[in-house]
Amino acid sequence: MLDLSGIPIIDAHGHPFMPTREKKEYSYAYSMCVHGGLADFRYLTSYRMALQEYKRLFGLPADASEETVIACRNERASADYPAFVGELYRDAGIVSILSDFGYPITGEGLTGEELASFASATAGVCEVYDLIRIETTCDRILYRPGLSFGEILDKFESYIETYKKEHRVAGIKTVVGYYTGLGWRPVSYQEAERNYGSFYQGKYRPDRADKPFRDYMVGRGLELAGRHGLVFQIHTGAGDPPACDLRLMNPNSLYELLNTEEAGRTKIVLVHAGFPYGYEAAFLAANYPGVYTDISSTVSYLGRAAESEFRKVLDVCPHNKIMFGSDGGGFVDQSWFAANYFRRALGGILDEYVEKGCFTEAYAAEIGKMILHDNAKRVYGI
Ligand SMILES: [Zn+2]
Repeated sequence: MLDLSGIPIIDAHGHPFMPTREKKEYSYAYSMCVHGGLADFRYLTSYRMALQEYKRLFGLPADASEETVIACRNERASADYPAFVGELYRDAGIVSILSDFGYPITGEGLTGEELASFASATAGVCEVYDLIRIETTCDRILYRPGLSFGEILDKFESYIETYKKEHRVAGIKTVVGYYTGLGWRPVSYQEAERNYGSFYQGKYRPDRADKPFRDYMVGRGLELAGRHGLVFQIHTGAGDPPACDLRLMNPNSLYELLNTEEAGRTKIVLVHAGFPYGYEAAFLAANYPGVYTDISSTVSYLGRAAESEFRKVLDVCPHNKIMFGSDGGGFVDQSWFAANYFRRALGGILDEYVEKGCFTEAYAAEIGKMILHDNAKRVYGI
């Protein structure tokens, strides 16, 4: 079997983690759902796979009970959290993470203390690069009642400039799909200003009436990414319902955005491989020179669907445009689990392609290195 174990991993899309965000029961960590208790998390394939991964790490017997595994995990996490993070990241071979600190969509955003806790847990363990999320910047950081449209635009621009000077920034990210869908369309300054005045409330609104303003800000974010040499990440595909309406999340809906002049000048990553629209994301990445994709989220939350989804991308998208990412956040375990699982799954899938005569062994090994590490390093310039 192709051995990819020595390749350091760049997690090209994740979120900060810290003990204070481990609010719900542990099985919740392997579901995309934000509503603890609504789904039967204990019976998810992803969760069961993570339990098996833990038995390997802790040297527990194969028949160790679920309770034993979780108790062992929680004991280590609470005894010395930074040491626990170090143990997991070394085990998975993760050397860098690109981290969107703008979550969650609804509920309380991360506090300064929580971000400091994340920084101290990862110090000396892995390199962290920030992703600036447009919607969080507008809603939580900049918006105040009475602020005019012109003022929020000025603030947005100077916030990104200043943040970039003071931090290691890899990209600007939008999760506009959650707010108003991926059916982006060009909006004039006047229309955006009118919509901002009438409908923008500085928070997620279920009726999606602030779409012109949201779309306008995505355009501005894309332009700023190009100007500052940053990558532009777009959340595509599934996310936690009900905020995320899967009917609005097909990356194909980005047609008008991808054909703007700004898009032609900027590297764009369709995050999460558009799951379950993997072929669409892969096809767009294959046909627009500046468009890339990563398989984050599928590898953490969707059990072995990660493999079927990855095959679509591998078959259609050039191999130098595909990146690994976990979409882990809150719990440190998700990125650890995703990296270990995907490294093995990728080796197995590439083996099959070699057996069928599609690739030489040497080329398969090259793909492994590109997807786990080299592509993210090159695309994000880190
Ligand atoms: Zn994410």
